[in-house]
Amino acid sequence: MLAAAASWYFAKGFAATLEPTPACADAGATPAQTPGPFFKPRSPERKSLREAGMEGTPIVIEGQVRSTRCKPVAGALVDFWQADAKGNYDNEGFRLRGHQYTDDSGRYRLETIVPGLYPGRTRHFHVRVQPPNRAVLTTQLYFPGEPGNKRDGIFNPKLVLDLREIGVKTGRFDFVVEAA
Ligand code: FE
Repeated sequence: MLAAAASWYFAKGFAATLEPTPACADAGATPAQTPGPFFKPRSPERKSLREAGMEGTPIVIEGQVRSTRCKPVAGALVDFWQADAKGNYDNEGFRLRGHQYTDDSGRYRLETIVPGLYPGRTRHFHVRVQPPNRAVLTTQLYFPGEPGNKRDGIFNPKLVLDLREIGVKTGRFDFVVEAA
């Protein structure tokens, strides 16, 4: 009897406080993935990784960092690193590495190039996301319809970019993290 009353109360309370943002509420936290061997700390702060004469197809990666309660996270660190068009990482310098902080709406936007392929992996970006004073989420982002996705044991369909051509190739991804 008590249990039934309690669960009724809980269900009613839950429904009353649930915000009408099912896409976010359903998503859960963004899955973590291995950083791989090529992460380097202290990347430069910048919103474009493109450089004069750099090979590769331009792409914009943009989206929002939200908490698991669907609130935008301002001032979150978003640190990208990736292979160049030939599939090589710059391990001496900081080519194709850079970090930025989300704006007041929790948004980030990165101008870069489509990463090249290297043996054993499908096409991917690496990224670390860290809300202020919270743990780092390390993960990777993938391309839809990429033939290598099926053969890559690390690939996760939850981490696929929403890819469009809006003048320039644009991939959207919203990170959902543990934050206030
Ligand atoms: Fe990689």
